[in-house]
Amino acid sequence: MSADHYVVIGNPIAHSKSPAIHARFAELTGQQVDYQRLLAPLDGFAQAVHDFIAQGGKGANVTLPFKLDAFALATELSERARIAGAVNTLKFEHGHIYGDNTDGIGLVADIVRNAGVNLHGKRLLLLGAGGAARGALLPLLQEEPASLTIANRTLAKAQDLQQQASSLSDRCELQACRFEDLQQPFDVIINATSASINDDVPQLAAIVFGKTTLAYDMMYAAAPTAFLRLAASHGAQCRDGLGMLVEQAAEAFALWRGVRPPSTPVLTEMRAALQASL
Ligand code: NDP
Repeated sequence: MSADHYVVIGNPIAHSKSPAIHARFAELTGQQVDYQRLLAPLDGFAQAVHDFIAQGGKGANVTLPFKLDAFALATELSERARIAGAVNTLKFEHGHIYGDNTDGIGLVADIVRNAGVNLHGKRLLLLGAGGAARGALLPLLQEEPASLTIANRTLAKAQDLQQQASSLSDRCELQACRFEDLQQPFDVIINATSASINDDVPQLAAIVFGKTTLAYDMMYAAAPTAFLRLAASHGAQCRDGLGMLVEQAAEAFALWRGVRPPSTPVLTEMRAALQASL
Protein backbone atom coordinates (compact mmCIF):
# COMPACT_ATOMS: atom_id res chain seq x y z
CA MET A 1 0.00 0.00 0.00
CA SER A 2 1.39 3.43 -0.89
CA ALA A 3 1.76 6.11 1.76
CA ASP A 4 -0.67 9.01 2.26
CA HIS A 5 0.93 12.44 1.96
CA TYR A 6 1.00 15.18 4.60
CA VAL A 7 3.02 18.38 4.98
CA VAL A 8 3.82 21.12 7.44
CA ILE A 9 3.43 24.49 5.70
CA GLY A 10 5.21 27.61 6.90
CA ASN A 11 7.67 30.35 6.00
CA PRO A 12 10.38 29.73 7.10
CA ILE A 13 10.00 25.98 7.52
CA ALA A 14 13.49 24.39 7.43
CA HIS A 15 13.67 24.39 11.27
CA SER A 16 10.42 22.43 11.75
CA LYS A 17 10.64 19.29 13.89
CA SER A 18 7.20 18.09 12.75
CA PRO A 19 8.48 15.72 10.00
CA ALA A 20 10.67 13.89 12.54
CA ILE A 21 7.79 13.64 15.04
CA HIS A 22 5.27 12.35 12.47
CA ALA A 23 7.78 9.89 11.00
CA ARG A 24 8.15 8.35 14.48
CA PHE A 25 4.38 8.33 15.03
CA ALA A 26 3.97 6.50 11.70
CA GLU A 27 6.63 3.92 12.65
CA LEU A 28 5.17 3.35 16.10
CA THR A 29 1.60 2.91 14.81
CA GLY A 30 2.47 1.08 11.56
CA GLN A 31 0.70 3.77 9.49
CA GLN A 32 1.74 4.44 5.89
CA VAL A 33 2.45 8.15 6.11
CA ASP A 34 4.79 10.39 4.16
CA TYR A 35 5.25 13.79 5.86
CA GLN A 36 7.35 16.60 4.37
CA ARG A 37 8.07 20.31 4.86
CA LEU A 38 6.42 22.74 2.43
CA LEU A 39 7.73 26.29 2.12
CA ALA A 40 4.89 28.53 0.88
CA PRO A 41 5.49 32.07 -0.41
CA LEU A 42 4.29 34.69 2.09
CA ASP A 43 1.47 35.67 -0.30
CA GLY A 44 0.85 32.16 -1.61
CA PHE A 45 -0.55 30.03 1.21
CA ALA A 46 -3.95 29.23 -0.37
CA GLN A 47 -2.38 28.34 -3.73
CA ALA A 48 0.16 26.07 -2.03
CA VAL A 49 -2.64 24.23 -0.20
CA HIS A 50 -4.76 23.84 -3.34
CA ASP A 51 -1.74 22.55 -5.29
CA PHE A 52 -1.03 20.02 -2.54
CA ILE A 53 -4.68 18.87 -2.54
CA ALA A 54 -4.54 18.50 -6.33
CA GLN A 55 -1.50 16.22 -5.89
CA GLY A 56 -3.51 13.99 -3.54
CA GLY A 57 -2.41 15.45 -0.19
CA LYS A 58 -4.51 14.28 2.76
CA GLY A 59 -3.70 16.88 5.38
CA ALA A 60 -1.35 19.58 6.60
CA ASN A 61 0.00 21.20 9.69
CA VAL A 62 0.22 24.96 9.50
CA THR A 63 2.78 27.08 11.27
CA LEU A 64 3.90 30.73 11.29
CA PRO A 65 2.82 32.95 9.66
CA PHE A 66 -0.14 31.11 8.10
CA LYS A 67 -2.45 30.07 10.98
CA LEU A 68 -4.91 32.89 10.22
CA ASP A 69 -4.77 32.13 6.45
CA ALA A 70 -5.58 28.50 7.24
CA PHE A 71 -8.51 29.63 9.39
CA ALA A 72 -9.82 31.68 6.44
CA LEU A 73 -9.28 28.84 3.95
CA ALA A 74 -11.05 26.10 5.92
CA THR A 75 -14.55 25.23 4.74
CA GLU A 76 -15.38 23.59 8.09
CA LEU A 77 -13.97 24.34 11.55
CA SER A 78 -13.75 22.54 14.88
CA GLU A 79 -15.18 24.46 17.83
CA ARG A 80 -11.70 24.99 19.30
CA ALA A 81 -10.40 26.35 15.98
CA ARG A 82 -13.37 28.71 15.72
CA ILE A 83 -12.74 30.00 19.25
CA ALA A 84 -8.97 30.22 18.70
CA GLY A 85 -9.51 32.14 15.43
CA ALA A 86 -6.56 30.18 14.05
CA VAL A 87 -5.92 26.78 12.46
CA ASN A 88 -2.80 24.63 12.82
CA THR A 89 -4.19 21.40 11.32
CA LEU A 90 -5.99 20.85 8.03
CA LYS A 91 -7.65 17.66 6.83
CA PHE A 92 -8.66 17.27 3.18
CA GLU A 93 -11.60 14.94 2.58
CA HIS A 94 -14.45 14.69 0.05
CA GLY A 95 -13.64 18.15 -1.35
CA HIS A 96 -13.79 19.78 2.09
CA ILE A 97 -11.01 21.54 3.98
CA TYR A 98 -11.50 20.82 7.67
CA GLY A 99 -9.62 23.14 10.04
CA ASP A 100 -8.70 22.30 13.62
CA ASN A 101 -6.47 23.85 16.27
CA THR A 102 -4.56 21.29 18.35
CA ASP A 103 -2.10 23.70 20.03
CA GLY A 104 -4.20 24.32 23.15
CA ILE A 105 -5.20 20.71 23.66
CA GLY A 106 -1.52 19.79 23.19
CA LEU A 107 -0.59 22.25 25.94
CA VAL A 108 -3.19 20.84 28.32
CA ALA A 109 -2.19 17.22 27.54
CA ASP A 110 1.44 18.04 28.32
CA ILE A 111 0.60 19.74 31.62
CA VAL A 112 -2.01 17.24 32.83
CA ARG A 113 -0.75 13.90 31.43
CA ASN A 114 3.00 14.38 31.05
CA ALA A 115 3.74 16.76 33.93
CA GLY A 116 1.01 15.20 36.11
CA VAL A 117 -0.43 18.59 37.15
CA ASN A 118 -4.22 18.62 37.43
CA LEU A 119 -5.70 22.02 36.48
CA HIS A 120 -9.09 21.47 38.12
CA GLY A 121 -9.68 24.05 40.87
CA LYS A 122 -6.28 25.69 40.30
CA ARG A 123 -5.32 29.37 39.99
CA LEU A 124 -3.95 29.84 36.47
CA LEU A 125 -1.99 32.74 35.05
CA LEU A 126 -1.73 33.11 31.28
CA LEU A 127 0.97 35.54 30.13
CA GLY A 128 0.29 36.94 26.65
CA ALA A 129 -2.83 37.43 24.58
CA GLY A 130 -1.67 36.52 21.07
CA GLY A 131 -2.56 33.53 18.90
CA ALA A 132 -1.09 30.87 21.19
CA ALA A 133 -2.89 32.29 24.24
CA ARG A 134 -6.17 32.44 22.32
CA GLY A 135 -5.74 28.82 21.21
CA ALA A 136 -5.17 27.73 24.81
CA LEU A 137 -8.28 29.45 26.17
CA LEU A 138 -10.99 26.82 25.58
CA PRO A 139 -8.87 23.74 26.45
CA LEU A 140 -7.73 25.46 29.69
CA LEU A 141 -11.28 26.43 30.68
CA GLN A 142 -12.50 22.88 29.96
CA GLU A 143 -10.22 21.72 32.81
CA GLU A 144 -12.37 23.86 35.16
CA PRO A 145 -9.69 25.89 36.95
CA ALA A 146 -10.83 28.04 39.91
CA SER A 147 -9.48 31.18 38.27
CA LEU A 148 -7.78 32.35 35.10
CA THR A 149 -5.85 35.61 35.03
CA ILE A 150 -4.73 36.88 31.63
CA ALA A 151 -1.85 39.36 31.75
CA ASN A 152 -0.50 41.12 28.69
CA ARG A 153 1.75 44.03 27.76
CA THR A 154 -1.16 45.53 25.80
CA LEU A 155 -4.00 45.50 28.33
CA ALA A 156 -6.80 45.81 25.74
CA LYS A 157 -5.85 42.45 24.19
CA ALA A 158 -5.95 40.74 27.59
CA GLN A 159 -9.38 42.29 28.17
CA ASP A 160 -10.61 41.01 24.78
CA LEU A 161 -9.50 37.52 25.72
CA GLN A 162 -11.15 37.81 29.15
CA GLN A 163 -14.36 38.84 27.41
CA GLN A 164 -14.17 35.81 25.17
CA ALA A 165 -13.40 33.54 28.13
CA SER A 166 -16.44 34.84 30.01
CA SER A 167 -18.65 33.60 27.17
CA LEU A 168 -17.09 30.12 27.50
CA SER A 169 -17.24 29.62 31.27
CA ASP A 170 -19.51 30.93 33.99
CA ARG A 171 -17.69 29.14 36.84
CA CYS A 172 -14.10 30.24 36.39
CA GLU A 173 -13.12 33.56 38.00
CA LEU A 174 -11.61 35.70 35.22
CA GLN A 175 -9.29 38.68 35.31
CA ALA A 176 -7.29 40.72 32.82
CA CYS A 177 -4.37 42.92 33.80
CA ARG A 178 -0.86 44.15 33.02
CA PHE A 179 2.20 42.21 34.21
CA GLU A 180 2.98 44.81 36.90
CA ASP A 181 -0.50 44.40 38.43
CA LEU A 182 0.21 40.76 39.38
CA GLN A 183 0.70 40.64 43.17
CA GLN A 184 -0.49 37.19 44.22
CA PRO A 185 0.78 33.60 43.84
CA PHE A 186 -0.48 31.21 41.15
CA ASP A 187 -0.52 27.40 40.89
CA VAL A 188 0.30 27.34 37.18
CA ILE A 189 1.86 30.12 35.09
CA ILE A 190 1.89 29.68 31.32
CA ASN A 191 4.12 31.94 29.28
CA ALA A 192 2.38 32.42 25.92
CA THR A 193 4.28 35.62 25.09
CA SER A 194 6.88 35.56 22.34
CA ALA A 195 9.35 37.40 24.62
CA SER A 196 11.39 34.19 25.02
CA ILE A 197 12.34 34.30 21.35
CA ASN A 198 14.54 37.33 22.20
CA ASP A 199 15.60 35.81 25.54
CA ASP A 200 13.39 38.40 27.21
CA VAL A 201 10.82 37.91 29.97
CA PRO A 202 7.81 39.95 31.16
CA GLN A 203 8.48 41.84 34.40
CA LEU A 204 6.90 39.69 37.12
CA ALA A 205 6.89 40.19 40.89
CA ALA A 206 8.56 37.33 42.82
CA ILE A 207 5.30 36.70 44.69
CA VAL A 208 3.63 35.11 41.63
CA PHE A 209 5.95 32.08 41.97
CA GLY A 210 5.65 29.56 44.80
CA LYS A 211 7.57 26.33 45.48
CA THR A 212 4.77 24.23 43.99
CA THR A 213 4.02 26.61 41.10
CA LEU A 214 4.38 25.05 37.67
CA ALA A 215 6.02 27.59 35.34
CA TYR A 216 5.40 26.56 31.74
CA ASP A 217 6.98 28.26 28.72
CA MET A 218 5.29 27.44 25.42
CA MET A 219 8.65 28.03 23.76
CA TYR A 220 11.30 25.33 23.88
CA ALA A 221 15.03 25.55 23.32
CA ALA A 222 18.13 23.54 24.19
CA ALA A 223 18.80 25.84 27.17
CA PRO A 224 16.13 27.18 29.58
CA THR A 225 14.38 30.37 28.42
CA ALA A 226 14.66 33.66 30.35
CA PHE A 227 11.17 33.01 31.78
CA LEU A 228 12.13 29.55 33.04
CA ARG A 229 15.40 30.87 34.49
CA LEU A 230 13.43 33.54 36.38
CA ALA A 231 10.88 30.98 37.60
CA ALA A 232 13.63 28.58 38.72
CA SER A 233 15.38 31.38 40.62
CA HIS A 234 12.16 31.73 42.66
CA GLY A 235 11.95 27.98 43.30
CA ALA A 236 9.13 27.12 40.86
CA GLN A 237 8.83 23.83 38.92
CA CYS A 238 9.77 24.43 35.29
CA ARG A 239 8.67 22.94 31.98
CA ASP A 240 9.18 24.07 28.38
CA GLY A 241 6.91 23.67 25.34
CA LEU A 242 8.55 20.65 23.70
CA GLY A 243 5.85 18.38 25.11
CA MET A 244 3.19 20.77 23.77
CA LEU A 245 4.76 20.45 20.32
CA VAL A 246 4.70 16.64 20.47
CA GLU A 247 1.16 16.51 21.90
CA GLN A 248 -0.32 18.91 19.33
CA ALA A 249 1.25 16.69 16.66
CA ALA A 250 -0.22 13.56 18.27
CA GLU A 251 -3.67 15.17 18.21
CA ALA A 252 -3.27 16.04 14.51
CA PHE A 253 -2.07 12.50 13.72
CA ALA A 254 -5.10 11.05 15.53
CA LEU A 255 -7.42 13.35 13.57
CA TRP A 256 -5.89 12.27 10.24
CA ARG A 257 -5.34 8.57 10.89
CA GLY A 258 -7.94 7.63 13.50
CA VAL A 259 -5.10 6.13 15.60
CA ARG A 260 -3.56 7.80 18.65
CA PRO A 261 0.23 7.55 18.57
CA PRO A 262 2.23 6.99 21.76
CA SER A 263 3.66 10.42 22.53
CA THR A 264 5.85 9.58 25.57
CA PRO A 265 8.69 7.77 23.72
CA VAL A 266 8.70 10.43 21.01
CA LEU A 267 8.94 13.22 23.58
CA THR A 268 11.85 11.39 25.27
CA GLU A 269 13.65 11.08 21.92
CA MET A 270 13.01 14.71 20.97
CA ARG A 271 14.30 15.85 24.37
CA ALA A 272 17.48 13.80 23.93
CA ALA A 273 18.01 15.25 20.44
CA LEU A 274 17.49 18.80 21.77
CA GLN A 275 19.99 18.23 24.60
CA ALA A 276 22.50 16.78 22.16
CA SER A 277 22.28 19.99 20.10
CA LEU A 278 23.64 22.03 23.06
P1 NDP B 1 1.81 36.32 18.85
O1 NDP B 1 2.72 37.18 18.05
O2 NDP B 1 0.44 36.05 18.37
O3 NDP B 1 1.65 36.97 20.33
C1 NDP B 1 2.76 37.44 21.01
C2 NDP B 1 2.40 37.77 22.45
O4 NDP B 1 3.62 38.04 23.15
C3 NDP B 1 1.54 39.03 22.60
O5 NDP B 1 0.70 38.85 23.72
C4 NDP B 1 2.60 40.12 22.87
O6 NDP B 1 2.11 41.20 23.61
C5 NDP B 1 3.58 39.34 23.71
N1 NDP B 1 4.95 39.88 23.69
C6 NDP B 1 5.80 39.92 22.65
N2 NDP B 1 7.00 40.41 23.03
C7 NDP B 1 6.90 40.68 24.35
C8 NDP B 1 7.80 41.19 25.32
N3 NDP B 1 9.06 41.55 24.99
N4 NDP B 1 7.38 41.33 26.59
C9 NDP B 1 6.12 40.96 26.93
N5 NDP B 1 5.21 40.47 26.07
C10 NDP B 1 5.61 40.33 24.79
O7 NDP B 1 2.64 34.97 19.12
P2 NDP B 1 2.04 33.50 19.36
O8 NDP B 1 0.91 33.64 20.31
O9 NDP B 1 1.79 32.83 18.07
O10 NDP B 1 3.28 32.71 20.04
C11 NDP B 1 3.66 32.94 21.40
C12 NDP B 1 4.71 31.90 21.83
O11 NDP B 1 4.16 30.59 21.87
C13 NDP B 1 5.93 31.84 20.91
O12 NDP B 1 7.10 31.77 21.73
C14 NDP B 1 5.75 30.52 20.18
O13 NDP B 1 7.00 29.96 19.82
C15 NDP B 1 5.05 29.68 21.23
N6 NDP B 1 4.26 28.56 20.64
C16 NDP B 1 4.65 27.28 20.96
C17 NDP B 1 3.97 26.18 20.45
C18 NDP B 1 4.41 24.79 20.81
O14 NDP B 1 3.94 23.84 20.20
N7 NDP B 1 5.27 24.61 21.79
C19 NDP B 1 2.81 26.37 19.55
C20 NDP B 1 2.45 27.76 19.31
C21 NDP B 1 3.18 28.81 19.83
P3 NDP B 1 1.33 42.45 22.90
O15 NDP B 1 -0.07 42.01 22.70
O16 NDP B 1 1.49 43.57 23.87
O17 NDP B 1 2.06 42.70 21.59
